[in-house]
Amino acid sequence: MKTKKVELVMQPPEIHWVGDGFRVHNFIPGGFHLEMERMNPFILLDYNSKYYFPPSDKPKGVGVHPHRGFETVSIAYKGRVAHHDSSGGGGVIGEGDVQWMTAASGILHKEYHEKNWSKQGGDFQMVQLWVNLPAKDKMSDPKYQPITNEMMGKVQLQDNGGILEIIAGSYHGIQGAASTFTPIHLINARLNKTGNAIFDFPASYNTALLVIEGSIIVNENEMVPADNLVLFENKGEIITISALENSIVLLMSGEPLNEPIAAHGPFVMNTRQEIMQAFSDFNQGKFGYLED
Ligand code: MN
Repeated sequence: MKTKKVELVMQPPEIHWVGDGFRVHNFIPGGFHLEMERMNPFILLDYNSKYYFPPSDKPKGVGVHPHRGFETVSIAYKGRVAHHDSSGGGGVIGEGDVQWMTAASGILHKEYHEKNWSKQGGDFQMVQLWVNLPAKDKMSDPKYQPITNEMMGKVQLQDNGGILEIIAGSYHGIQGAASTFTPIHLINARLNKTGNAIFDFPASYNTALLVIEGSIIVNENEMVPADNLVLFENKGEIITISALENSIVLLMSGEPLNEPIAAHGPFVMNTRQEIMQAFSDFNQGKFGYLED
């Protein structure tokens, strides 16, 4: 097997706000090298780099809004987030936890800082990924998978190098916690200083990593600091990372869907006609009801 070479290292784009609770760098599809198709099935990546929110009695966040045609995956590194949706899903995720919401045929949801956390304030750090669904599953039933840190597959690295948390997919036979519609590997590497890890992902899979904390060397030659994203070539399989200090790295790799993408706002379908149908269904209240 060959090394999967670095195609691009991307510094965090200018921040923008999602509601008043999420201060994000939009790596996908914000970067001109990273339009939705390039990292498909990962069609959006918003990253709230570590940011201090002062105490607030009114939880900050984003109010009721719809989604159709894909999944939203939220990974909390700092702070706590509460989620509610119109299919009855809901819960709170805290540091190290993940919520995997399948919007599929349509959902309304709201995402806020958890009430008590909001009252205290603190550092907040989170990733939200949108994972596209294949055409045949876009109109399936919504579902919600709360994935606590304990549920994830864990791999201890050699020489006290740290730990891998398998959110989805697998690593050397250790299975992740999430069920997915298409083959995806989503892994948090929590590396101690000088710790290293080796990954192999199929050459054809779209693959990237995001440095959440610390700084790392990728493939023994590319230094990558915190809050930078690395996109890999669709050639070769092997990626090595080694930590220059205690570091957290999110690795994502998925089989491309190779289906047309028609996206508008919170809807991601295959054709423009389906997007218009989504707006029509939403306006007719077919996504259910959720109190603001
Ligand atoms: Mn949302």
